[in-house]
Amino acid sequence: MKAIPYGRQNITEEDVKAVVETLKSDYLTQGPKIAAFETAFAKYIGSKYAIALANGTAALHLCTLALGVKEGDKVITTPITFAASANCVRYCGGEVVFSDIDPETYLLDIDKVRTLLEASPKGTYKGIIPVDFAGRANNLEAFRALADQHDLWIIEDACHSPGGSFKDSNHKTQNCGNGNYADLAIFSFHPVKHIASGEGGMITTNDEKLYQKLLQLRTHGIVKNNNAYTNSIALAGGKETYPGWYMEMQNLGFNYRLTDFQAALGLSQLSRSDKGIEKRREIASNYFDAFKNKSFIKGQSGVIEGHAYHLYVIEVQDRLGLYNHLRDKNIFAQIHYIPCHLMPYYQQFGWKEGDMPNAENYYKHCISLPMYPILTDEEQAYVIDSINLFYSEKY
Ligand SMILES: *Cc1c(COP(=O)(O)O)cnc(C)c1O
Repeated sequence: MKAIPYGRQNITEEDVKAVVETLKSDYLTQGPKIAAFETAFAKYIGSKYAIALANGTAALHLCTLALGVKEGDKVITTPITFAASANCVRYCGGEVVFSDIDPETYLLDIDKVRTLLEASPKGTYKGIIPVDFAGRANNLEAFRALADQHDLWIIEDACHSPGGSFKDSNHKTQNCGNGNYADLAIFSFHPVKHIASGEGGMITTNDEKLYQKLLQLRTHGIVKNNNAYTNSIALAGGKETYPGWYMEMQNLGFNYRLTDFQAALGLSQLSRSDKGIEKRREIASNYFDAFKNKSFIKGQSGVIEGHAYHLYVIEVQDRLGLYNHLRDKNIFAQIHYIPCHLMPYYQQFGWKEGDMPNAENYYKHCISLPMYPILTDEEQAYVIDSINLFYSEKY
């Protein structure tokens, strides 16, 4: 059996054609594919605006910048996430406050966040970054209500959940990243994520002011718009109007742009995204059926409505033994995640073992099984058999 990773991209002939066509076009970057990808992505997610970026981490960075995070600002997030969800606060000098997960959903526990907020005077915290971990949607309607009580913004880290959703209190489907509750949402197009563009990211929002700010920050803080300049026409070197070459750098921004050929790949991949999620749900359903009565696995809840299944996580006995056994079988399961607060970088701020008991207990048992649309039935059966074999031999 060839190596089976926990996640991988699916590049079709169509994708290759889309990239090659763009390589032969007039634009390698700052061309029409960016706008086409943004428009299609916003439509898919159901947000007003979408801004394509170099990667998901750049997207997070621009979000904290656009929301004005500064030295000492306290922002709440989950310890069970990729470090970038927390790091974006640090890029702006803010302080990361981790809050524990719900042991059933593995998501930020809203009751714990509420307790945290109520223990300090209003204004102590500036924002919350919930993460749709593994592809499971946070109930952002509930987070919005809590955030409004405390004047907080919300950045939804939806890297795992394009195409995911939750049901609001009116039983209406709310897509992850649709901008109805979070101020900003971010996505990644790294090859293990649902939509691959090599490196790539996206911010979605319904807030036009934030959208304009983000566009500027993406390209060095430069403005090119005759109606928005602050220098005079004379200083710009014109007579009656601003000269054709003129532009202004009004803020300190970055070059966080995506290239056109990456956007072409993302756009082509996006057209198959729903099919990919269908396949992911099918794989999840097979895993659930295979393991539902096994005592070595913590009780699973079955296939969850609205879950985008970026990952299929189980909690098991003897996780280290299973992980090594699977590696011997050429199956590369992965651990998501080492709790962020235990990273040496975050320990320097005083975080330590024991601070997040649910996250730490989860980390002792969790393992992510292979989950991607081109995982074949045969490969999945091999993964399931290998797991059963390990426990039948050992227990
Ligand atoms: C992948 C990921 C990111 C970062 O995205 P990059 O495109 O790799 O920079 C951030 N948050 C989460 C939850 C992720 O999974």
